[in-house]
Amino acid sequence: MTTPSSTTKHGSNWPALDVKNLSAGYPGDKRAINHLTFTIQSGERVALIGPNGAGKSTLFKAIGGLIPFTNGEISVMGEDCRSSHAFVGYVPQQNEIDWSFPVTVYDVVMMGRARQSRWFSWWRRDDHAVVHDLLEQLNLSQFANRQISQLSGGQRRRVFIARALAQDSRVLLMDEPFTGVDTAAEQEIMNTLDLLTEQGITILLATHDLGRAGRDFDRVLLLKRQLIGFDTPQIVMQPNMLRQAYGGALTVFQQGDETIFIADERGAGD
Ligand code: ADP
Ligand code: MG
Repeated sequence: MTTPSSTTKHGSNWPALDVKNLSAGYPGDKRAINHLTFTIQSGERVALIGPNGAGKSTLFKAIGGLIPFTNGEISVMGEDCRSSHAFVGYVPQQNEIDWSFPVTVYDVVMMGRARQSRWFSWWRRDDHAVVHDLLEQLNLSQFANRQISQLSGGQRRRVFIARALAQDSRVLLMDEPFTGVDTAAEQEIMNTLDLLTEQGITILLATHDLGRAGRDFDRVLLLKRQLIGFDTPQIVMQPNMLRQAYGGALTVFQQGDETIFIADERGAGD
């Protein structure tokens, strides 16, 4: 097996994620995302926002290789994504996971090693070492043997972050990790993101929390089937820009000098 450093260009200035003219969808909706072009630099932290049905999850699935794309190109760390899916870690939206599936925290994280190991071999000693380290890093060691059904929302997010990192991911896609968790768990997830940013990992994170998108990210990608905006928070978090995606589902408050945006999560934005 070749190692990432010998097959990719990620030591140099290749963008982490380069998406060109991408369209993807499903049999009933072939262009759920349509003609997207954007480039994310290595180590950047990007918030992906847009109303329900905007195609955020579809974009993640296309980048992660879970659905075929109908048009365009995706490259990760300078490599065509068909050969570089292993550099992409994907933390799915929580409602896409069957939490009753009887599997332990340890096993879920170990699943992340499957792409690293030859699939026909048994786990190697270093796979176990990687999993142990990640459980420790994400404060999950004490839950290693627990069934995932018995975890809190915040712990569940961290297990899936650990699984994604077990792949040696350089790019992490996180689909609405803050939805349905309390403030403390949200803060823990943010602390984890800081740790990953320190390690140079590129993060693309979907959220309905527009305040956080404007505050804690280098750039914001605004999506509604098409790319509406991709720029710094100062530029994207403007009423006119946001309304192009959210329409009536956007509420704007003025609090002193600060403008506060709230997106109605149920709103389709039409
Ligand atoms: P978001 O994550 O921004 O809420 P999605 O990517 O889930 O949006 O959905 C984008 C569009 O694709 C929606 O119109 C949705 O109904 C459709 N869609 C999503 N998943 C499927 C699927 N498995 N089969 C058919 N259509 C789907
Ligand atoms: Mg989604």
